[in-house]
Amino acid sequence: MKKIKGVRISPGIVCGPIYYFEKGRLNVPRHFIRAEDFDSELQRFKQAIQASVNELKQVRDLVLDHLDEEHARIIDAQLIAVQDEEMIKAVENLMHQERKNVTWAYYEVMNEYEALLLKTYSQFFKERTADLKDIKKRVLHHMVGEEETILPDINKPSIIVAEKISPGDLIHIEHNLALGLITWEGGFDSHAGILARAFRIPYISNVDLIEELVSYSEIILDADNEEILLDISGSLKQEYLTRITEFQKLRKRIISAKVANSTRDKVPYHIYLNVGFVDEVEAIDPQLIQGIGLFRTEFLCIEQNTIPDEEVQFQAYRAVLKKMGHLPVIFRVFDFGRDKLLAMLDLEVIQEDHVFDEWGGIGFLLENPDILKAQLRALLRASIHGNVKIMLPLVMFTDEVRQTIELLHEVQRELQEQGIPFRKGIELGAMIETSSILEQLDGLADLVDFFSIGTNDLALYLIGSGRTVDLTRNYYHPKIFNAINLIVSAAKRANVPVTVCGEMASDPYALIGLTAMGIRSVSISTSALAEISKEISALDTKMLENLADLILSADSAATIYSLLVQFHQDCLG
Ligand code: PEP
Ligand code: MG
Repeated sequence: MKKIKGVRISPGIVCGPIYYFEKGRLNVPRHFIRAEDFDSELQRFKQAIQASVNELKQVRDLVLDHLDEEHARIIDAQLIAVQDEEMIKAVENLMHQERKNVTWAYYEVMNEYEALLLKTYSQFFKERTADLKDIKKRVLHHMVGEEETILPDINKPSIIVAEKISPGDLIHIEHNLALGLITWEGGFDSHAGILARAFRIPYISNVDLIEELVSYSEIILDADNEEILLDISGSLKQEYLTRITEFQKLRKRIISAKVANSTRDKVPYHIYLNVGFVDEVEAIDPQLIQGIGLFRTEFLCIEQNTIPDEEVQFQAYRAVLKKMGHLPVIFRVFDFGRDKLLAMLDLEVIQEDHVFDEWGGIGFLLENPDILKAQLRALLRASIHGNVKIMLPLVMFTDEVRQTIELLHEVQRELQEQGIPFRKGIELGAMIETSSILEQLDGLADLVDFFSIGTNDLALYLIGSGRTVDLTRNYYHPKIFNAINLIVSAAKRANVPVTVCGEMASDPYALIGLTAMGIRSVSISTSALAEISKEISALDTKMLENLADLILSADSAATIYSLLVQFHQDCLG
């Protein structure tokens, strides 16, 4: 048996075949050729090799100018491999013997070389497959042109293996076909991670050499223990299969018991849900929950690959509200930031967290008022069907809220003139998730009816570490707790309710810290609901009295983490 380690993004355990999803894959034309086409095909191949050689030489010069001889040697190795006589001969043979066209033959030969390297025991050779992939793409690109953006086309339930996965990719896979996810790159708070947890798809990332998995017909993904198991058999396999069956049962049961509404010492506590899809809401029993604390409306856009028009949005919001009855549903207006916008536009660019900050949130919508107006109209029209609240993402300045309120009044006037009914006095809230708004909390509290703390983005702004897998750095960082303290104090002064809707609230240790700071309301994904509900009902707020001071005087995330773990062991363990 062999084990490969990763980092857990979404819990669970599954067993199944692999589907290797290669994003931005080159379209490789495959057809048989006639004998008379042979020379022209070969000519095309040699020209593509020459063009690749020229390119690589330019890259080599650049590397020499900006780096050093050692790095330039990597390109030298590629230069040798791209013109390798044996490889060219193998392609020619395949064309001759099997009448395959040149792109097809070249693709197969290169794949064989990659497979050979992966079979060796040497880590060094395994890692060289990345060079071969590079070369293959380069030469094919010269023969066929642009890369084709593809969506996963899975036809049987499989564990998806990919370098990275965007929320858009994930949404386009039928949920029951995605048994599990394994990626090389990914983060706990990434939106793909949030989606995987929402769909209860076991997921681990930071797995090296994912290509190696392709040679296995079946693997076990044990995300609970952050590992992949290969070549497993006998009684050990049986043990795993028992766990897998248990998980499958659990996966179907979205929420099985009423969520807690108070702590052990009877202090009222709200636990709301974070959702992003109408289907997700359809599967929830409203009798068991307290409401929806964050509906990420931009997921509707990712689902449809476009911004849905007012009518389509209205239907979606109405369906959610009808299902939830009198329970509050907080719709956050579109937050087209970072990977969410990229997923929608299906852009293949490096997702440097900070590069896209200015694209997101209410600021973007105010620059594109037609989009915001249509959404507000849809929300207001749907409002008569339930208990709707509206929330603004990534608020940076109080003025953005003022402008939104003006637009909301304009939409209300329009609807009134058109005789379209809507609910008056809908509550408006602001997400607290940027560093600039932390300095304007009192002014903000005068404008809105509630605060909701987005710890995922707040960590990005305050610590700059982004949606990484290293939770210790994000959730237990002193800057985060200081900010939470500031927000809770401002909310108390203004008598404005405050909820935490970032992923931090799903972490049992961080939850203790949040409660110690005075938080009495969280919004979390369905996958965390059972555990967090249990933790809250076991918590005694009287025992938390000194903890807030200890947290606020701590000078490192490690100290805060050990304080919280200790408290958990002593009081809840
Ligand atoms: C957050 O930033 O914490 C949050 C809840 O919003 P999102 O993850 O959708 O940006
Ligand atoms: Mg956010």
